[in-house]
Amino acid sequence: MMNIALDGPSGAGKSTLAKALAKKLGYIYTDTGAMYRTIGLAVKRRCIEPTDTDAVAAALPEIKISLRFENGEQKIYLGEEDVGGLIRTNEISAYASKVSAIPAVRAHLLDVQRTIAKENNVIMDGRDIGTVILPHAQVKFFVTVSDAERARRRYNELIAKGENVTLEEVATAMAERDRQDSTREIAPAIPAEDAIFLDNSGDFDAVIDLAIAIIRDKAKEAGETV
Ligand code: C5P
Repeated sequence: MMNIALDGPSGAGKSTLAKALAKKLGYIYTDTGAMYRTIGLAVKRRCIEPTDTDAVAAALPEIKISLRFENGEQKIYLGEEDVGGLIRTNEISAYASKVSAIPAVRAHLLDVQRTIAKENNVIMDGRDIGTVILPHAQVKFFVTVSDAERARRRYNELIAKGENVTLEEVATAMAERDRQDSTREIAPAIPAEDAIFLDNSGDFDAVIDLAIAIIRDKAKEAGETV
């Protein structure tokens, strides 16, 4: 199976890139951030502090997350509820980042993510895919974009969804989330040693073409077909 890790900070355009690559290659796209966000949502609904390690760990067995592929799109369910439309707010981003620093949460999701990659050709987007989840992935990308551009993109996304935020608030929240994600003790969001840096600031089609060329080369080296 071809396993492609796509890591990088928030707002670098990983999911757009991963979706487009998966479509071109006929691979499955897995958004691991959505899983952390869904745990964040479930924790918030239970009125649990996202930093309360014991309470969050105790709630995990009751939090049933599933990814379902419907009409070629990935949907994320909490129990039987499609929560895709609820998890992309600034508030849930902060919950996701906090619960993701809890070892029990990461252990809970590790098996799910590895199983998907074992059974499918996959492009998995996240923070620790190349370093922890799929250390043997044939291709590891680390996506970068300037901080100002990332904040601007995330701001536009939130505004389009009707959230009432300022660019400054988004930039501050993003910087805080990146700081938390990259300095946490467990699975910090850092590039794998063998990661290929992919600058996603410029022309999207050119980035896709470059990524596809790299994937084809690596697949050939690994004796896999694409
Ligand atoms: O990618 P996204 O912004 O949706 O991720 C939300 C949060 O989930 C991140 O800020 C990070 O704290 C956490 N996360 C993680 N490991 C992953 C994916 C996401 O810790 N593989």
